Amino acid sequence: MTTNSTDGSSTSRIVIVGAGPAGIAAADALRGAGHVGEILIFGEEAHPPYDRPPLSKQILAGTWPLEKARLRTREELTAAGTKLQLSTRATALDVQAHRLELDSGQSVFYDALIIATGVRARRLSAAQGLRGVHLLRGLDDAVALRTELDGVQKIAVVGSGFLGAEVAAVCRDQGKDVTLIGSRELPMQEQVGDEIGTMLADLHRSHGVHLELGVSAAAFTHTGHHVTGVSLIDGRTVPADLVVVAIGSEPSVDWLGGSEVPLAAFDDDGAGGVRCDSTGRAAKDVWAIGDVAAWWDPDRRQYVRVEHRQAANEHALRSAQDILGRPAEHAPLVPYFWSDQYDLKIQSFGQQSRQHRFQVVDGSVDERRFVAVSTDQSGRVLGVIGAGMFKSLRRWRQALVDGNTVEEMLTSAFVT
Ligand SMILES: Cc1cc2nc3c(=O)[nH]c(=O)nc-3n(C[C@H](O)[C@H](O)[C@H](O)COP(=O)(O)OP(=O)(O)OC[C@H]3O[C@@H](n4cnc5c(N)ncnc54)[C@H](O)[C@@H]3O)c2cc1C
Repeated sequence: MTTNSTDGSSTSRIVIVGAGPAGIAAADALRGAGHVGEILIFGEEAHPPYDRPPLSKQILAGTWPLEKARLRTREELTAAGTKLQLSTRATALDVQAHRLELDSGQSVFYDALIIATGVRARRLSAAQGLRGVHLLRGLDDAVALRTELDGVQKIAVVGSGFLGAEVAAVCRDQGKDVTLIGSRELPMQEQVGDEIGTMLADLHRSHGVHLELGVSAAAFTHTGHHVTGVSLIDGRTVPADLVVVAIGSEPSVDWLGGSEVPLAAFDDDGAGGVRCDSTGRAAKDVWAIGDVAAWWDPDRRQYVRVEHRQAANEHALRSAQDILGRPAEHAPLVPYFWSDQYDLKIQSFGQQSRQHRFQVVDGSVDERRFVAVSTDQSGRVLGVIGAGMFKSLRRWRQALVDGNTVEEMLTSAFVT
């Protein structure tokens, strides 16, 4: 990678694999930072780049046209000097030779390569060959689900993480008879903990969703090749005309097997994905960003992979700087996500972990207007989560960034 050290510009060819939010943000960031050389993006999907959060919200609810989820048109990218090749899958990488192999049979040489291939929805093998069982990861999934929803009444959602909980809320808002099934005791328990999980369970119940929590789905019942229900491990069956499976995801790294790109373990303790330093650098002239990338977190001293929208942008910006030889930024990356369910918007910053102390610092969780923090033993704020109290949430987010304790915050003069 040759970079002009005086202004950071470069005439080199930068190749991006994956035309999702992270890939597009990287192209923007490189141009924004003065890269004047070629940028090529290869994406396996046929659609122009689009955003995923609306898929389980406005697109599923039918309140947005599909175009509103679009990130960039091909014309916009062309105007920025970026070449986009869709329906093209990367199949192999030779780091030493700086060569990417594509399923079209092409070999492409690069000076710098960005891996932005995201994740794929995890499947249940029992669903193979069954009609009426849906996943929700891409635009095609959302359109197929939306189309079939119109003609059915009983919906079972398998998986009570944030995606399953959002899908259940949208389906219920459409007047469907919805059952949310999850192996955890509470919705989104891993992401938000017990107190907020309990509030979410109450929220779904109050809207009329049937909750089957603390019990796993074992198999599907069906007539011919069409699903008729979900069998639970305790022997009961939840009848369903349509089933949505939302049981997590796996990093899209299959094409990197045999390359020199280091991959993290993907098991109960490991986040999987491409192992990178804290600027996204994974191997010689190779960076990884977004959902697929496990970045080294110097504060937590571990690799962290975050499947949230804002991380895609932040990774892209930081890696673009590094690729162009700009001094690394050292501001800590603060993981952020939001989730919309009915009229509730939950926002979370930093780490939410059951190992940390949980404390409501403003409002009331029961009233669904609150800010709560997770702290370490000394009371230092590690995570902030809230709903309906934006100003206070922002203030506590700053406490997290500044490394303040709850005590310091509560005794400070600032009143919200
Ligand atoms: C339904 C849904 C709702 C969500 N809602 C929220 C939310 O409310 N808040 C939030 O913070 N986050 C949300 N997320 C997560 C957010 O969308 C992701 O964090 C974000 O899309 C990550 O962007 P990415 O570019 O890293 O990966 P992706 O969006 O997965 O894009 C990767 C792209 O690479 C392509 N690709 C994969 N392998 C190859 C290959 N070998 N060759 C070429 N192309 C390849 C994929 O097909 C895909 O198009 C949601 C996700 C989903 C699915």
